[in-house]
Amino acid sequence: MRYLSTRGQVRGIPFKQAVMMGLAEDGGLLLPESIPHLTPGDLDAFAKLAYPELAFQVMSRFIDDIPSADLKSLVDRSYATFTHPEVTPVVSTGGVHILELFHGPTLAFKDVALQFLGNLFEYLLIESGAHMNILGATSGDTGSAAIYGVRGKRNINIFILHPHGKVSPVQELQMTTVTDPNVYNLAIRGTFDDGQRIVKEIFGDLEFKKRFALGAVNSINWARVLAQVVYYVYGWAKVRAATGLETVDVSVPTGNFGDIFAGYVARRMGVPIRHLVLATNANNILTRFVNNGEYAIGDVHPTLSPSMDIQVASNFERYLYYLYGQDPLRVCNAFAGFARSGRMTFSTAEQHQVTGEFRSLSVDDASIIDEIRGFHAATGYVLDPHTAVGVRAGRTLATSDVPMICLATAHPAKFPDAVHQAIGRNPERPASLNGLEDRPRRCETIDAETGAIKQFVERHSL
Ligand SMILES: *Cc1c(COP(=O)(O)O)cnc(C)c1O
Repeated sequence: MRYLSTRGQVRGIPFKQAVMMGLAEDGGLLLPESIPHLTPGDLDAFAKLAYPELAFQVMSRFIDDIPSADLKSLVDRSYATFTHPEVTPVVSTGGVHILELFHGPTLAFKDVALQFLGNLFEYLLIESGAHMNILGATSGDTGSAAIYGVRGKRNINIFILHPHGKVSPVQELQMTTVTDPNVYNLAIRGTFDDGQRIVKEIFGDLEFKKRFALGAVNSINWARVLAQVVYYVYGWAKVRAATGLETVDVSVPTGNFGDIFAGYVARRMGVPIRHLVLATNANNILTRFVNNGEYAIGDVHPTLSPSMDIQVASNFERYLYYLYGQDPLRVCNAFAGFARSGRMTFSTAEQHQVTGEFRSLSVDDASIIDEIRGFHAATGYVLDPHTAVGVRAGRTLATSDVPMICLATAHPAKFPDAVHQAIGRNPERPASLNGLEDRPRRCETIDAETGAIKQFVERHSL
């Protein structure tokens, strides 16, 4: 399987090179040259597999430059860190099927992809004798999942900036109690935006980037999308077995469009998904796209589901490539126009195609609280505020003849304040959070200055 860029200037590259490239060198995003098709016989066979076996089978369709035994070992190690024997179990309650993606080390769905990406990076770096210094800024979820993905790995150091005193206590502890020598937590005296700006500036210094082999773990890496395709197949198989129905809908709490794009890939592979329900919070640029045929920048509003607070969705370009008939020139023109005007509009035919694949609903903070409260009252099941967005949208847009799978993207214990506001008590804490306060910590407080961060990276890089 070879990979190409949505912008057309990179093509014919193998999987391993696509992983190490991250963002395509022409500024586009990498995609497989063709999406493999699963026959009904393949799907029946896949439905019998345990999660790691299934992950190996699905990924093998996209990866032909890593020996099978090595890929198998990478996959097995990546999912051995999950605390549930099924890795991503399905809980059927309240008229929906909740696909729990939060049993990894940081209790959010990003672990599914980042546990694999960390092992994959290490494998590829050892093979080529190279090193990498990962640099990123976080407001919470991504940073901790990235840290747990590469902690203790050879040939990789990771530097994660978080705003000092401004991330939730659980998230701060999850990051700073990782004391592996290759992990550097930098608490900057500034905001999340300062952190993002500094990281962008440092990546913009191409000489520095090259000299220190800087790498990123953001959601545009193809390997992250690929790892997420697996649980759509797994969830579909479980719900088919439970209901006897062949076709499902899937509701996805969406921010950067990475998770739901993996669902789109699964759908194109032949997994019987009727609609992907694109659930957004008050930051609803993607809901306006599906429902009004216009993709236009708005302001970012802070909400109760902070991991979905985005302005533009970095993975949206991958879907556009297909919507535009796999024509990179049209993708380039659309983004050039978007850079000038801050908007893209779509023809009636394109809108028709979009609404055949997606349904969408935007869920505001009041409805998030209402959904957590109502769902708990009806079922006893506690939703986190991100999952609540998806469950509200899923329940609203479901039809009685097609089962609705709702992706649960975070454990409620990560967001105790919103849960407490809804149900009057804190969610139960899973064992991995017990005693976190008493563990040793490793964190450096540092000024929010690009020069200071560069110096730190220079002194501690591989
Ligand atoms: C990152 C995240 C999302 C959004 O996923 P995207 O792939 O960016 O659409 C939703 N919920 C949680 C808990 C997250 O951490």
